[in-house]
Amino acid sequence: MDVSAYLETVYTEVCRRNPGEAEFHQAAAEVLPSLAPALDRHPEYLGTGIVERLCEPERQLIFRVPWLDDRGDVQVNRGFRVEFNSALGPYKGGLRFHPSVNLGIVKFLGFEQIFKNALTGMAIGGGKGGADFEPKGRSDAEIMRFCQSFMTELYRHLGEHTDVPAGDIGVGAREIGYLFGQYKRITNRYESGVLTGKPVAWGGSHARTEATGYGTVYFAQEMLATRGHDFGDRHVVVSGSGNVAVYAIEKVHALGGRVVACSDSSGYLVDEDGIDLDLVKEIKQVRRSRISTYAEAKPTARFSSRGTVYDVPCDIALPCATQNELRHDDAVALVKNGTLAVAEGANMPCTPEAVEVFREAGVLYGPGKAANAGGVATSALEMQQNAARDSWTFDQTESRLASVMRTVHAQCRVNAEEYGGNPDNYVLGANVTGFLRVAEAMAAQGVI
Ligand code: GLU
Repeated sequence: MDVSAYLETVYTEVCRRNPGEAEFHQAAAEVLPSLAPALDRHPEYLGTGIVERLCEPERQLIFRVPWLDDRGDVQVNRGFRVEFNSALGPYKGGLRFHPSVNLGIVKFLGFEQIFKNALTGMAIGGGKGGADFEPKGRSDAEIMRFCQSFMTELYRHLGEHTDVPAGDIGVGAREIGYLFGQYKRITNRYESGVLTGKPVAWGGSHARTEATGYGTVYFAQEMLATRGHDFGDRHVVVSGSGNVAVYAIEKVHALGGRVVACSDSSGYLVDEDGIDLDLVKEIKQVRRSRISTYAEAKPTARFSSRGTVYDVPCDIALPCATQNELRHDDAVALVKNGTLAVAEGANMPCTPEAVEVFREAGVLYGPGKAANAGGVATSALEMQQNAARDSWTFDQTESRLASVMRTVHAQCRVNAEEYGGNPDNYVLGANVTGFLRVAEAMAAQGVI
């Protein structure tokens, strides 16, 4: 059988059965062709429909989320949970609250999550959820009522052995608190392991908040090391200024690099002195305000709402904002400015056209499912601590995270070389490594 032609047929079928879900099609288009060398070596996975089953979520939930705003008016949002694959463990993946959320976005994220979670080597399946809710401008009380209504429907599908959500864009410690409270009230169970990303004070893990950003930098550090480079004195551009970006900046600075730019949805900020992270945290986490206010507080900085953060020359770029934020022209600008490496802190931030530009130019490129796997890996460590009613120190947890990232990086390179001949092909390495783990479990568990 011509495996590539078969994978093309599966992809065509994914597009046909999931019309209008552009981001899901994009995620499938990245993964499916790269599975050809794995299937050539494992023809036994062809007969049992492993690939077809991987592309079809085990369960997809869509539900109404009605809630009362502060004026007493009824608001209606749409909630989602896509339970994609449970071959390796309970469904695991974050919840995203953002107006752009729809079924296609949740499916792309859930599909990526299957491979990412498998790559961590931990016992977690793949899932994702969220709502088309805009948290911006909402009071704490409104956020609480929204979270309570969301959980009032979702709780019946969750459980520490069934489905374990966490945060993503628009969902942090505050939202996890409200969601957990409602789950506990409805079920009358203090089931710590049903959600991760909890505050450390009541069942959360040290280093979970930092994990995605730190892990992305560890991954980039490993990529750089393959060419004899490190972060010392390097100029770095980080897109975004949310949870992932903030802790990526923190770790770059700890390793001696200098982050000269970051951004939010209104524009980007350049500070050649190095981004003042305390100021960013104050603006974003305490005031929940715009990044442009940084330039008011620090006159050496410059804010721009034209162009993109990738116009700023850098040695290393860490896209940590959202999907498809780094496009063809941004990649061309980065290559022109001599960028050595790009590691994705966000999920699918680089468009396929941008990735092609990096490939042609020989820029080291770490795809999100490998580079940002530290977040969900530390969620799995949180689940372990909850199951054991234990709590590890920050250092203990961070060193587990660092070792997971080193292992993920090494495995990507080994399989990239073995299945494609080029260890720098992290896309191939990540997809094949994740696939082989999930496929083995799915084959053993029968056609379900
Ligand atoms: N939302 C994060 C991700 O994209 C974390 C998921 C989790 O911790 O379950 O991997």
